[in-house]
Amino acid sequence: MGSICCEHCTAACCKYLALPLDKPKTARDFDDIRWYLMHQGVTVFIEDGDWYIQLPTPCRHLRPDNLCGTYETRPKICREYKAGECDYSGGNYGYDALFQCESDLASWLQKRKPGKRVSGRASRSNGQKDASSRTTARRNGRGGP
Ligand code: SF4
Ligand code: SF4
Repeated sequence: MGSICCEHCTAACCKYLALPLDKPKTARDFDDIRWYLMHQGVTVFIEDGDWYIQLPTPCRHLRPDNLCGTYETRPKICREYKAGECDYSGGNYGYDALFQCESDLASWLQKRKPGKRVSGRASRSNGQKDASSRTTARRNGRGGP
């Protein structure tokens, strides 16, 4: 394990993934995000102006004892993560905003300045980046035990 705290954790960082989203600009973009948030467990957050979707799904290599089943060949994103600023330790990710349901998003949109209205242009890419950008997805505190 990478850290003493991992010994007391149930591998929270191996049970979801976070992927970058195109910054929503249009009414359609925001409606797509509203749809994401209709799904159980899905959250969307903004950090440093960048948008991410977080999906609750465990890694296939996570063992029943909450250890990594492919430790020697685990992905770089898992190797690079430093425990201590993670889910277990309650690290501060510095969210600009966190949306856990549709109403969170609706409240946030209502608070936006009047001059920052969402345009009615059609969405270009269904609110998601292309496949290559997904490969550089931030893992939001995930690094693995
Ligand atoms: S790095 Fe992962 S397994 Fe270790 S304490 Fe943090 S969340 Fe838990
Ligand atoms: S450390 Fe990485 S590869 Fe290993 S179980 Fe966790 S997410 Fe999966």
